[in-house]
Amino acid sequence: MRLLADLHTHTIASGHAFSTVTELAVAASAKGVELIAVTDHGPSVPQGAHPWYFWNFKVVPSVLNGVRILKGCEANPSLTEDNGIDLPDLILEKLDFVAVGFHPMTGFDERDRTKNTEVLLKVMANPLVDMISHPGNEDEFPVELDAVVEAAVRNNVILELNDHSFAPTSARSGSATREREFAEAAFSAGAPIAIGSDAHYALHVGRFDVAVAVAEELGITEADLVNRDAATVLAHVQAKRERPRLDVGGEWEWPGTTGATGAGESSW
Ligand SMILES: [Zn+2]
Ligand SMILES: [Zn+2]
Repeated sequence: MRLLADLHTHTIASGHAFSTVTELAVAASAKGVELIAVTDHGPSVPQGAHPWYFWNFKVVPSVLNGVRILKGCEANPSLTEDNGIDLPDLILEKLDFVAVGFHPMTGFDERDRTKNTEVLLKVMANPLVDMISHPGNEDEFPVELDAVVEAAVRNNVILELNDHSFAPTSARSGSATREREFAEAAFSAGAPIAIGSDAHYALHVGRFDVAVAVAEELGITEADLVNRDAATVLAHVQAKRERPRLDVGGEWEWPGTTGATGAGESSW
C-alpha cells in the first residue's frame, strides 16, 4: 500500500520538534507525499504553540512545491475549557484540520479511564474535531475502546493508527498492542481510519512502515484509509464542514527548490 497524505506532523512551534513548515513541505514533495496536515501541539503541552500561532496560519502557503498544506493542530482535551479542548472553537473553526489527543502533563496523568473517556466523548461530539491521535495509549491515557469507536462512527471522527507509537524510541511504545486493537475495532465498526507519521523532523514525513504492516495484517487496505491521497482527505474534511481558510495562503514554490523535487523519485 502507498499512502500519499500524512495527517500528523510537527514543526519547531511544538517546542520539541525540529523542522519548519517549509522543510516539512519540501521533504514531502521530494518523497511524493501530496498532502500534509501540520498539527502542532496545543498550548497545554509544555512549550506547545500559542493560540496566536494557529490564528495566524493564514500567512502560510496552502500549497507549497505542489504539496497541499492543511493548517491544523494536535490539541489536547481540557477539563477547564468550555469546549473540552485547549484551543477555543473560534480558532478551531478556522483550521483546515483538527486533531486532538492526550499528552503528558496536561491534566490527565492519573490514568482514570472513566474521566478520560468522558472528556474524549465530549471532544469527539464537537463538529470541529476531525481526528483523535494515537487513541491506543493505554499505558498513559486509558479510554473505553468500544465507546470511543462508537463515537468515531457516530461523529465521523478519524481514529489514527499512529506509526510512531510502534517505535521502540516512542514514549508510547508500550501502547502498540492497544493501538492495533483500536485499528481493528475501528475497521470492523466502519469508523474512518488514517495512518499518521507523527513526524517531529522533516525527513520522517510520510513514514508509515510499521503502521502499514499492522494495517495489512488486519486486512485494512489503502482504500480503507482516509489518508490514501490528497483528494480523499480534502473530500473527507470538506464533507464534514466548511474550511473557510483552505486556500487563503495561495500556491507557492520555495525559491531554489523548483526542479530539485520530483514526486516519488526519492528513495527515502
Ligand atoms: Zn510531540
Ligand atoms: Zn500526539
